[in-house]
Amino acid sequence: MRKNIVAGNWKMNKTLQEGLDLAKGLDAALKGKSLNCDVVIGTPFIHLASVAAAIDTKKIAVSAQNCADKASGAYTGEVSAAMVKSTGAEYVILGHSERREYYHETPEILKEKVLLALANGLKVIFCIGESLAEREANKQNAVCKAELEGSVFNLSAEDFAKITIAYEPIWAIGTGKTATSDQAEEIHAYIRSVIADKYGKEVAENTSILYGGSCKGSNAPELFSKPNIDGGLIGGASLNVEDFCAIIKAF
Ligand code: PEP
Repeated sequence: MRKNIVAGNWKMNKTLQEGLDLAKGLDAALKGKSLNCDVVIGTPFIHLASVAAAIDTKKIAVSAQNCADKASGAYTGEVSAAMVKSTGAEYVILGHSERREYYHETPEILKEKVLLALANGLKVIFCIGESLAEREANKQNAVCKAELEGSVFNLSAEDFAKITIAYEPIWAIGTGKTATSDQAEEIHAYIRSVIADKYGKEVAENTSILYGGSCKGSNAPELFSKPNIDGGLIGGASLNVEDFCAIIKAF
């Protein structure tokens, strides 16, 4: 059975002290509660080790938002998958549209990052999704399929099982515009069918596919009620305890 997951992506927000306060606040808010989803927080690199040491990571898993496409060596400023793993992080978010657009991460670079993340024992939340122009040209299915083929469909079925997909229409990220639950369900079902064509029905049924893009407490219940939407990747609303908990409560 696939898991329901609510994953926060803090992006480049919060000083170390603020991030620790947020993580500890979330930890306190969830303490003693039995949850119907896994909870993940994607922090900046510098927060990972401190946050992982300060919270119950069996309840709240810690994720990086990126890792290097090289294993180690003379790559000034980069952070390797092995380093991420050594902090106590369990996940890494890869392929976010902001990384693809602003840092020119190509499908080939992302393929290397995914391989290194898996080789170092990290689970991957792999983001895909179309731009507004692509949606208006009805190319969303082709874009998502190509992004999967470009960076994760080289994996064995065993490795693909360590991947969570996040469908994030770029036009809905941080814009306040959410895909309707029907729009999201339609493309999630399509993504699952593409995975089934590649890896078979069982692997596809076991793959968690998250929705991301202006997801909040008010729209999460309807989005998460859809059969192919297994949770959310949450940007803005992951930055305070109350808003993030409202989304977790949707399950
Ligand atoms: C994201 O960046 O992954 C995201 C979904 O952001 P937001 O929730 O702010 O739209």
